[in-house]
Amino acid sequence: MNSRNFVAKWNLGRAAFSVAGIAISLAMTVLTSACRDDAGTPPPREDVLEALNEHIRAKVHPALQGRPRLHLVETMADMMLVNVAPARPGANVESFRRVFGGTSMSNVALFLNDRIKYILPQGLVTGASAADQSLGGGMVVGATNVGVPIYLQSVIARARGMNPVIRIRAGSREDQIEITSPRVGLVELGVGFGMETRFPVRTEDGRTALLAHTWVRRSSTLVHEARHSDCRVGVTAAEAEAVFRGETQPRPDCGYPHGTCPATISLPDGTIVPNSAAGVEGACDRIPWGSYGVQLAYLKHLALDGRGLTERQRAEALTEFADTLMRVENGISLLRGDFGWPDMSSI
Ligand SMILES: [Zn+2]
Repeated sequence: MNSRNFVAKWNLGRAAFSVAGIAISLAMTVLTSACRDDAGTPPPREDVLEALNEHIRAKVHPALQGRPRLHLVETMADMMLVNVAPARPGANVESFRRVFGGTSMSNVALFLNDRIKYILPQGLVTGASAADQSLGGGMVVGATNVGVPIYLQSVIARARGMNPVIRIRAGSREDQIEITSPRVGLVELGVGFGMETRFPVRTEDGRTALLAHTWVRRSSTLVHEARHSDCRVGVTAAEAEAVFRGETQPRPDCGYPHGTCPATISLPDGTIVPNSAAGVEGACDRIPWGSYGVQLAYLKHLALDGRGLTERQRAEALTEFADTLMRVENGISLLRGDFGWPDMSSI
């Protein structure tokens, strides 16, 4: 396993937020903070919600500026540069194919486009401040998908005869989004997404070098968040109300909310080792093929099976793969299909 202090103390309960007066547990990805976020000069501000590029259709809010925006634009452009990366001969790409519907980055782009419609600055919907995003132990929020919690609210509102919409304002323009699906796809980028973080690699002379994270890690964060947009079965207003009152947990296959981390990790060579994240609440998948499971399949492809990546990119993917393995019960078995293949559908 890599040496990054990824576990620390997580208390995702602190990340509860309030939308329209109702506390909601967030579905989120967290990133480590390695250094402070000294954002560079922001690009010119535009008063429109614009798509990122010809592949990634999510609209980016103009108030998303500075380093988070630069990282996002770079990530979305750079990940598509490895678009000519189908499987290596002999690679086992079944888990990737089952999740993304193919073996190239074009499939990943389609997966993202189905599930992330708007990329927003931190706090635009949730009202979360930078201080709210610190989870302790050097952990900060990387991104948050608020689509499913908002969808659950819309189910309640509709049962009361209202037609729920969310208004995304950008300068003089306003997009009114009718919330008819869990795949409303609203992702806020957190403080962590804008940070310049690093990962350790072993050099040939036995020393440890720190390399900057790139699109490899950041794109896997977005893949993770995208899965939080899926809700396999409809939720009644009564069920949604019980969730918001704290009387019941959300369905594990609606938004794929996180649960308690497993006691052990299965490594690729078959050995079972204790999980340093064991017992941590709200930091791991509750069922097979949640957000971390999907992220694991993505990172395995980048690290081991895809073509067109540099060794440095593979090293980054492998580091992220090792981290994600802590968040998934029997992750290696999962990728082999031992628990069945994922249902990627959503209402
Ligand atoms: Zn998550």
